[in-house]
Formats: sequence, C-alpha cells, structure tokens
Amino acid sequence: MKKMAQAQATRFASIDPRTGEVVAYHQVDDEAAVAGAVERAQQAAEWWRGLGFTQRRRRLLSWCSALTRQVDELAELICAETGKPRDDARLECVLVIAHLDWAARHAEHVLRRRRVRSGVLMCHEASSVAYEPCGVIGVIGPWNYPAHTPMGSISYALAAGNAVVFKPSELTPGVGRALAENLAAVVPEQPILQVVTGFAETGAALCRAGVNKLAFTGSSATARKVMATCAETLTPVVIECGGTDALLVDADADLAAAADAAVWGAMANAGQTCVGVERVYVVDEVAASLTELIVTRTRRLRVGGEPTADLGPITRPDHVEVIRDHVADALACGGTALVGGVESVRAPFVEPVVLTGVPETSTAVTEETFGPTLTVHRVANLEDAVRQVNAGRHGLGAAVFSRRRGAEIAARLRCGMVAVNSVVSYAAVPSLPFGGVGDSGFGRIHGADGLREFSRSKAITHRRFRPVVEFLTFDRPAWAVWLLLRIVRVFYGSFIGR
Ligand code: NAD
Repeated sequence: MKKMAQAQATRFASIDPRTGEVVAYHQVDDEAAVAGAVERAQQAAEWWRGLGFTQRRRRLLSWCSALTRQVDELAELICAETGKPRDDARLECVLVIAHLDWAARHAEHVLRRRRVRSGVLMCHEASSVAYEPCGVIGVIGPWNYPAHTPMGSISYALAAGNAVVFKPSELTPGVGRALAENLAAVVPEQPILQVVTGFAETGAALCRAGVNKLAFTGSSATARKVMATCAETLTPVVIECGGTDALLVDADADLAAAADAAVWGAMANAGQTCVGVERVYVVDEVAASLTELIVTRTRRLRVGGEPTADLGPITRPDHVEVIRDHVADALACGGTALVGGVESVRAPFVEPVVLTGVPETSTAVTEETFGPTLTVHRVANLEDAVRQVNAGRHGLGAAVFSRRRGAEIAARLRCGMVAVNSVVSYAAVPSLPFGGVGDSGFGRIHGADGLREFSRSKAITHRRFRPVVEFLTFDRPAWAVWLLLRIVRVFYGSFIGR
C-alpha cells in the first residue's frame, strides 16, 4: 500500500539511512517523461557517434578529470544516500575514475575496424570487422555502489559511442543526478547521459521506451521482470545480479591473509556487495586456526553511522528482515553463531555475524544474504569445496587461498571471476570483464568485453580479385562444386599438418 502511494506520487524523497532524514526530493518520472528522455538520447547518440573515437576520448577524459576534482562531494552524497563509511565511498569513487579512464583510452583500439583472415576458400575477399555503437543504452542500477555499479555500464557504453538514459535506484537518485550533471558541465552540447528517477514503474517504462539495449544491475527476482518487459519489444539485455560468493582456503594458504580477506570481503559495505564473501570453505587441517582468526578480526569491527565506522547501516530498510531470516534459519538448521546472532540485527544496523556448522540447504547458504554475515564450512579437501560451490544457483565471483593450487582451483569454479590469494581484486582491474553465470546473470561489463557488449559487430568483405572459379553465382560451371569439394577434402579431410 505504502509502495503504491509512493509510486503514484509525483516526487519522492531519498533518505539518509543513518538518521532517517531527507537528503533531497526527486521526480517520479512517468512513461511520457522516460519516452522524452529516450527521444532526446536518440539525437544525442547520433551526435556522439559522429564525433568519432578521438573526440569522444577527449571529452570522456575531461569528465574523468572533473569527477576526480569532485571526489569529496560525490563521496559525501554517496554516504548520505547509502550510509556507508566515508572511505568506502571514496574507494568507490576511485573505481569509477579508473574504469572511466580505461574505457575512454581503450575504446578505439578494441572497437575500430580490423582485418581478419578470410580463409583458404575465400582468399579473394579482404575481410574486416568493426564494432559500432548500439544507439541508446538504458541503464537500471542498484543502490549498494550507486556510482561504481552503474558506471560499469555507463562508462563503457559512452566510450563505445552510445548515449545513455540511466534510472538509478530509488534509494540513491541523487548520486545518479550528480553523475549526469557533472558530465553535462563538461559535455554541454548534447545530453549523452540523462537520468530518470522513480520506482519499478519508471524502470519498466525505460525497458519499453525503445532503447537499443538495456543494462540491468540488481536482484535476480527483478532481473526476471526486466527481461519479461524487454521481451515485449525484443530489447536485448545485459543482466548483472547478485551472488553467494565463496572463499576457499587450502591447507597451505597464508591463513592471516585468508582471514583478513574473508572478513573484509564479507563485512565491508556492511556485506552489501554483489561480489562480497558469503561463505568460507576451509579444509579440516586448518579450519580451527582460520576460524579463530576470522572471529578475532570480526570482533574488532565497529558498526555505526559515523563516517569513520567500519560498517554503516543496512541501506535498504526492508532488507533487514531478510538478513534476520537467514541468520535465524541457519541457527534453526543446526548452525552455531561464533560472533553475534539474531540479536545482531538492530535496524538500521546489523552487527557482524559469523556462523559455522550451517547445512548447505539453509537459506543463509543458498540465497544471497547481502548483510554482514559469514558462514564457515569445514571440508575434507578442496575438491569437496569446489563441488559444493559449483552446486549453487549463483556464479558471480569467488576467491581461493592456496600457495600451490590457486590457479587450478580457480579454473574449476563455475563463476565469472576469481581472485587467487586476494578478494574482489578483479573488480578493480578495468581490463578484466565482470559478470556472472546462472542466477548471477549474463553478459559482461568492464574491459574489452564490456566495450563490445555495448556495440554491434559489423562484418565487411571486400573483393580483392576475381576468383578462378566463381561459386556464389547461378552461372558457375557444373564442375565448380565438385572442384570445391576436392579442395575441401584436401584441406579439411585429415588432421595431418593441422
Ligand atoms: P532491485 O532488483 O530491487 O532493484 C534494482 C533496480 O531495478 C532499481 O533501480 C529498481 O528501481 C529497479 N526495478 C525494480 N523493479 C523493476 C521493474 N519491474 N522493472 C524495471 N526496473 C525495476 O535490486 P537492489 O536492491 O537495488 O540491488 C541489490 C541487488 O543488486 C543485489 O542482489 C546485488 O547483489 C545486486 N548487484 C549486482 C551487481 C553486479 O554487478 N552483479 C552489482 C551491484 C548490485
């Protein structure tokens, strides 16, 4: 009822979750407003595409400098809308800058026309492929990293020559607006990045508005609705959802480093990280030592609304109950709380919780908890750990701590990214693709794959000379296909020499 009333209003408030105070009011953009933004974006896209790589690169790098100069203001706004500690917000801004810079500098190299081999049968043709902009990209974002997450699509989409219409989460509309205003100050000619604000209906309107591709980041449940809406207009989608990421620890691992990574990976941003660590699988031999290190480190963490706290509040008020349910389920299924428990949930804050002995069937293991909780599982060996991790529905990121077997185990995990002897590091490497498998989604942002995700390949063959025998004509001689098959048998009929 409350949600309907919100959705029917013409404006809504973004709230500071630390204090409950209003940060600012924003427009609820309806279907007509969204359609208008997409129409303007279509014109902007033509202009932006026409500028070419060099001019776009120059403008995007200016934007990068402008964002760098305003990191403190942007970080302040991120803190106000999410409640996260100051340095977490600053770290987020650093990621935004690094990715934008990389996308701007590498777009031409990745996307420009390049020659490819035509093969023996078509050697009379010169072949090439280029990646052209799609046009207008719709981006729908979450609130947990309100700048970094959508910019993982926006930076790469713009660098590839598209215009963007962005619908930020209803919890963080101000961050979305700030990004667009910052870009408009540097690129005032055309609205290459516009922001529409509102709830689910605004997002659905963006899916239906005729964008050329829709990049969604959020929960798997919403992703299903977004895909269904986009299916109405055959709008292609990139889907970046959550995960239940695991950290695996072998007997020869640096245990202090593994414990540090497990605790930071699970608790940073109050556990509200799509690639945050939710589960640790540790081999029996070192399980007791690792668990003790994890518990000691976790007990040191300070939770609160002050800018220097280790963990801030749970940003999304209704999510507190999900965390409580998962902890309660873990305990009801026979798990033991080593740090905290159900009583740790004191909205809007949740104190860290470390659980052990939790069965694989508990929702604390099978579903994304998205809070400062960690389940520690003992396994006989890493093979067992891999089997259990790969049995899950999600497959976003993972981490492996092992001196000898890191690369081998990483290769066997069913997921999109793995950090060996660190955690989440891949997200800070702009040249690496980012995305998941299974319920964690599909498609890739970041890196060369991210640039291509927001492009369409255009293949061209250019005749270099007339072939001795022309096959692709009704005028070919009767023996032409016979000859072609002889050639094919010679070249492809045997493995020898290949
Ligand atoms: P959410 O699914 O509730 O909302 C995401 C966005 O979708 C919001 O902007 C929301 O307004 C919009 N939306 C809601 N219903 C819609 C509809 N029917 N049609 C169109 N748009 C609609 O997710 P959230 O709570 O904002 O974000 C948390 C989730 O995001 C977590 O699951 C987290 O793991 C995931 N996440 C994933 C990544 C990644 O890169 N894989 C990054 C950050 C967050």
